[in-house]
This record gives sequence, C-alpha cells and structure tokens, in this order.
Amino acid sequence: MQAFSRRVRAAGERVGLVPTMGNLHEGHLSLLRLARARCERVVASIFVNPTQFGPDEDYAAYPRTLAADLAALAAVGCDVAFVPEARELYPRGGGGGDDVTVKLAWGQDRLCAARRPGHFDGVLTVVARLFNAVLPDAAWFGQKDAQQALMVRRMTEALRFPVEVRLGPTVREPDGLALSSRNAYLSPTERREATALSRALAAAGAALRSGERDPERLAAAGREVLAAAAGLTTEYFAVVDPETLAPPAAVGDGLLLMAGAARLGRARLIDNQVHRVAGEAVHDALLF
Ligand code: AMP
Repeated sequence: MQAFSRRVRAAGERVGLVPTMGNLHEGHLSLLRLARARCERVVASIFVNPTQFGPDEDYAAYPRTLAADLAALAAVGCDVAFVPEARELYPRGGGGGDDVTVKLAWGQDRLCAARRPGHFDGVLTVVARLFNAVLPDAAWFGQKDAQQALMVRRMTEALRFPVEVRLGPTVREPDGLALSSRNAYLSPTERREATALSRALAAAGAALRSGERDPERLAAAGREVLAAAAGLTTEYFAVVDPETLAPPAAVGDGLLLMAGAARLGRARLIDNQVHRVAGEAVHDALLF
C-alpha cells in the first residue's frame, strides 16, 4: 500500500483516501467522487474497526458485504480497495497495555463521546494507523459524523500528519433519513419512525431561520419532535458551537451545529445539521 502511494507521489500525482467500514452506500460513494475530483489516485479502505465498538455494541453484527462493496468501488472509479486484516493494523492486538492508543481530550465529554466511552479513541487510533498505512495526501470524511470529523481534524493537526482532512455533505434518503449502514437494522415500522431525527433537525433549523437565537429553545424545538416519535429513545439533541461542542450562551454569527442521537430498535441513529448564521441570514454549511 505504501509503495503504491510513494510511486503515485513520485510521479507528481496525489493520493486521496476515503476510510470506511464497508457496507458502502451513496454517502461513501459521494466522498469517493469528491476524492477523485482532487486526486489522481483514490483509495478506499474497508475495515470494521474493533477498537471503536463498545463491549455492548454491534461489532459482530455490523454488516459485512465485501463483494458488493468491491463492485461499487470499481463502478465509481476507485483505484485501490485497501482491506487490511485486524492484525495488520493492530500487530499488538489493539487496546492492550503494550499498544498505542490515540486520545484527544477535546470533545470527550460532549455529544456522542459522552455516551460511547472510548469510541473516539478507537476512531482516532485507527485513522492514525490508516494514514500511516496508506500515506494519503488528503482524506475525506462525512459531515454525517460531525464530531468524528472535528476530532479527526484536530488529531491530524496535533500529530502533524501531512494529510489534508476534507469533508463531504450528508447524503440522505428522499424522506430525509441520513444514509447509514445501521439503517439496515430497522424494521419497516422503525424505518418510518426514523425520519424523526431529520424532522427534529428541520424543526430546530426552521426556528433558527425564523429568528430564534436561544440555544436551549432551539434544542427544545428538536427534542419535541423526537419525543413524539413512537419507539424512539432520544440520547441527546443539542445545539452547540462547533469550536467547543458546548451550547453557546447565545447564538451569534458563525457556525452552529445541531446534532442528535437516538435509539430505535437495534439501531443507534445519529444526524446533524450545520448552519452558518450571519445576522438575520441562515445558510446550510459544512463544518470546514
Ligand atoms: P462508516 O463506514 O459508517 O464508518 O463511514 C465512513 C465514512 O463515510 C465516514 O467519514 C462517514 O462520515 C461517511 N458517511 C457515512 N454516512 C454518510 C452519509 N449519509 N453522507 C455522507 N457521508 C457519510
């Protein structure tokens, strides 16, 4: 993998990486198209990373669909599918006392990190190893996982990886549900209720556009929609400053992140919307 990237760079070309856990959908493929537009060579990694799953989470059940994934990668013009074995990324087993884990203090007691202890340590640890294995010039992440993207960017800066971290917008089903491999866990009834998360974000966004600037009232507008959804348990719905992941005292000009997580049947769903506020005006935005 490294020899490939070194050859590409020696020829004056760029390598773009899209890290995934497989079970590829249009969200992943949109990131690959963004990578292809900026890099002559594009690598997709497929690795269901054990260290980012909690003991009671869905590591064993996570959908593994390698043959279909490889066909989708070929169709989108991806040059390399990098599909390492766990022992290749974790020669010491991962997480043991003689191993190295990347921990970022920033963001730890916020949003998903507060509900999934150790999750982002696993994410950052595997991203660091993937960067070293693939040696990309740039890597693309989805805004769907907003906290992950922000933490990966901070880790990349802190460890001085020579990798440009880039973001792609969230790809959604026609009814608003953000695409996710975990949507496969939903029964037909749950699938209908799952739109509550994007509807909650829409309600909070509408309140923002109509002039509401109190973060707690904005969050309440979203929570109300989630509370009305049968079978869905809200983990959090928060309106935060992306610099701190904490609610701002008052919403001012700049970026505002609205993010929610909910349990529905076997699935844990997350979604978010980023707004750029400029006086009265409110626009959809990317975090970076
Ligand atoms: P995963 O395979 O779920 O770990 O996701 C791999 C990458 O795809 C991450 O950077 C995700 O943020 C991104 N991603 C997942 N779902 C979506 C989506 N619906 N839209 C855009 N990007 C996504």
